[in-house]
Amino acid sequence: MARLDDDQLAARARQIRCLFLDIDGVLTDGLLYIGPNGEETKTNFVRDGYGIKLALRQGLQIAVISGRPSASMQRRLEWLGIRHIALDTQDKEPAYLRMRDALGLADAQCAHLGDDVPDLPLLRRVGLAMTVADAHDSALACAHWVSRSAGGRGAVREAIDLILGAQGRLPA
Ligand SMILES: [Mg+2]
Repeated sequence: MARLDDDQLAARARQIRCLFLDIDGVLTDGLLYIGPNGEETKTNFVRDGYGIKLALRQGLQIAVISGRPSASMQRRLEWLGIRHIALDTQDKEPAYLRMRDALGLADAQCAHLGDDVPDLPLLRRVGLAMTVADAHDSALACAHWVSRSAGGRGAVREAIDLILGAQGRLPA
C-alpha cells in the first residue's frame, strides 16, 4: 500500500463511518509505568479525548481494540462515550469483524489507526489505513496516511479532524 494524495485520501475519508483505535502507542505514547504491585499506569492526551467526544457528537463512531487489559482505560473510554470496546484481545481481526458486523458496516466504511504488528490485519483490510508518526516500520509500510503527531500526542485528534473535515462535519 502506498501513501495517497490529498484527493484520494479525502475520497476514502468521506466513506468512513467508524474509526477503530489501538490504545498503546496510539491513544497513549506506548509507555507503561509499572507500580510496586505490578499495576500499570498510562497517560492519555486530553486533546485526543476532546476529539473523540467531538467525533461521537458529529456521528462518527469510535471503536477501540487493544491487546492489553486495563480497567482504568476501560473506564476512561466509557466516560468518553465509546460503546465499542474490546480490551485484552490477542487477535484483533475477529474483534474487528464482530464490531464491523454489529455496526452493519463494510470495510470501506471503517478506518483503523494502529502502530504495530498486531494492527496489520486491520490496516490491510479497512478503507482507510492510518498510523502514527512514530509507528513501527511495518505499520508505516501499509498505511494510507501517517499523522504528524506521535502516538499519545495528538495523532488521534489529527485522524478525527481528517475524517470529519473530509465529510464537512468539522466545526469551524
Ligand atoms: Mg499499539
